[in-house]
Amino acid sequence: MDIIYSARCLEYQQVWHPESPARVRIASQYLENAGFPFLEPEPARDEELLAVHTEAHIKRVEEGDFHDPDCPRYPNIGFYARLAVGGAILAQRRRGFSLMRPPGHHAGPHFLGGFCYFNNLAVAVKISGLRTLIVDIDGHHGNGTQAVFLGDERVVYVSLHQRWNYPGTGLESRDNCLNYPLPARCGADTYLATLERALDEAGKRGPFEQLAISAGFDTYKDDPLASMGLEVEDYRRIGRLLGALRLPTFAVLEGGYVPEIIGPAVEALVAGLEDGGALTGPGPRSPAG
Ligand SMILES: [Zn+2]
Repeated sequence: MDIIYSARCLEYQQVWHPESPARVRIASQYLENAGFPFLEPEPARDEELLAVHTEAHIKRVEEGDFHDPDCPRYPNIGFYARLAVGGAILAQRRRGFSLMRPPGHHAGPHFLGGFCYFNNLAVAVKISGLRTLIVDIDGHHGNGTQAVFLGDERVVYVSLHQRWNYPGTGLESRDNCLNYPLPARCGADTYLATLERALDEAGKRGPFEQLAISAGFDTYKDDPLASMGLEVEDYRRIGRLLGALRLPTFAVLEGGYVPEIIGPAVEALVAGLEDGGALTGPGPRSPAG
């Protein structure tokens, strides 16, 4: 599976912010050493962002005209947020893994939040035009992704997340958004059994043309923000369940705040996807090159 990555996403930071450049810097070095092929994304264009976000929201992000305690007004954050969206778009085309920051699943059509400015995965899904199953394995509910796709007949959104944690949404399923709130540190057995049940339920709403994974690793046992008690090798088990859907698959990094485990966790998830039979790597829909 290709890793979509640009070192430019390391250029902004704020001391003590958990969404740090070290997360992706350490992970990218690990995956490069592990032999994964790397590809550079380009910033998303206006017409791509507009598939999900309002013009007013795009303007606010680009001009730094917003106030959110979790989303600092970094200089040029509009550029970095566009580049992360571009990463997701390229990941969709190549069936790859976008290892970019900032993350995206808390950003909705006209709002930001939770370290997210634009919704990377949502833009990639929207502009693909494909019937998509989105599975969000970040430890927080993807309120932005739900806001984008609620009621969209071409998409089913599945999220497993810690109950009562930020942003406080996703306590019940709504229409095409299937939410599975779980207790903190519930452990792998509960988590995997719930994921299996969720995929069965989603399967009844298929068929799908692709699988899009919001890949957060803050479910890791020592994560400070959303631990569900998972070990690194449990991401391989998650990958196997998702790979068994045998769909063209791409993934986009969301959270995960223990920088040293993100690379190994991506490697485990990708290995699991491939064990399970997911279609990864450039497919017939990919542009040449
Ligand atoms: Zn998270």
